Amino acid sequence: MSDGLKLEKYSLGVGDRFAHQARAQLRACLQAAEHGVEMTPVWNKSYREHGIVGSKPPSVLAAAQAAVSELGWTKPFHVDADHIRLDTVDEFIETSDFYTLDVADSIGEPAPDDDVRAFVGRHPELVGSLEIPGIAAPFETTREEIERIARKFLRAVQDAGAIYRHVAAAKGEGNFIAEVSMDETDTPQTPPELLVILAAIADERIPAQTVAPKFTGRFNKGVDYVGDVAQFEKEFNEDIAVISHAVKTYDLPSNLKLSVHSGSDKFSIYEPVRKALARTGAGIHVKTAGTTWLEEIIGLAEAGGEGLMLAKEIYARALADIDALCAPYATVIDIDRPQLPTAEEVEGWSSEQFVGALRHDRSNPLYNPSLRQLLHVGYKVAAKMGDRYLGLLRENEEVVGRNVTENLFDRHIKPLFVGAETAAGVAGD
Ligand SMILES: [Zn+2]
Repeated sequence: MSDGLKLEKYSLGVGDRFAHQARAQLRACLQAAEHGVEMTPVWNKSYREHGIVGSKPPSVLAAAQAAVSELGWTKPFHVDADHIRLDTVDEFIETSDFYTLDVADSIGEPAPDDDVRAFVGRHPELVGSLEIPGIAAPFETTREEIERIARKFLRAVQDAGAIYRHVAAAKGEGNFIAEVSMDETDTPQTPPELLVILAAIADERIPAQTVAPKFTGRFNKGVDYVGDVAQFEKEFNEDIAVISHAVKTYDLPSNLKLSVHSGSDKFSIYEPVRKALARTGAGIHVKTAGTTWLEEIIGLAEAGGEGLMLAKEIYARALADIDALCAPYATVIDIDRPQLPTAEEVEGWSSEQFVGALRHDRSNPLYNPSLRQLLHVGYKVAAKMGDRYLGLLRENEEVVGRNVTENLFDRHIKPLFVGAETAAGVAGD
């Protein structure tokens, strides 16, 4: 199950809500190459984002192609139909070569008893003492437990199979990359659950190249990881071991790897992730999505003048419409409302104050994660401004682009894949 289009070892999901930053994002991948890291950009945009911005899927490929040809990028890149479902996939068939099959909504919908029994019957190896190379102690499982897990996840995997076959019928097998995502759900999946899910994915004959589980802890949009980093590290390492075991046991694609959604800005876990990748040789896909849009506002605020005025206006409008803007993202944000400055207060801010509050620099006392999260979900406000917003982006392309590139390279690619550098500029540990 591994012929055809293959996803590279390290890939970065980059979101570009207003389709103006593909070049700046690609520059971060060029910088990665200068540091010896092969980074494949994957431009992703979900049905939800297209709806809010008012764009169509072909615009993502067009922006990517323009950036690729302008910067002379000769390595692979992909366009991800992010979080699509059977009822939303069709518009993405022509211009995507990567499909994030979102089945989180079917998790917990109990699978039929016959299917559960058949699954456990097919997989006696899942019951008993599960020895997985790379995990010190075996997992002890009972038949009842595997049945319970199968009942919870089988239906979701079957749904992923239906979307996969729908895309395959239209594009042809091997002509696209498939990811199975289960991240937008309430509870994290344990390593034994991940193993059951992977066995079911193989049964369903989905040649998944990435899988996005829900990890332990909170992955709020645009801010740092909230949770027990040691526990995350343990489970992340176990997930890598489970994947490598499942690839061999169930003949899944050899490049199958973890995908971390809402992966931008999770600075506290980057070091454990980087160490795990270095130690195991595993690959990874990291989605950074909306962080680029925040860099656009930072760039405009930094530019001062009209740019700063517009940034303040976006904040004021987002604050006025906070409930509606937050609703679609309720499970992935955590705004402490008393921490939000009033629109009048922000009106009086300098560039430095606005940028300080918004930029994700934890060493800056001005940094305000609640304001950052509100603006993260506030892109609808800019979308409504239309050309007024886009015109300022174009006028301030240099300062905006610089912020986009620096954010991706310095705060994401570097800690995840390069590590700390010594004063001499040599990569070290
Ligand atoms: Zn996701």
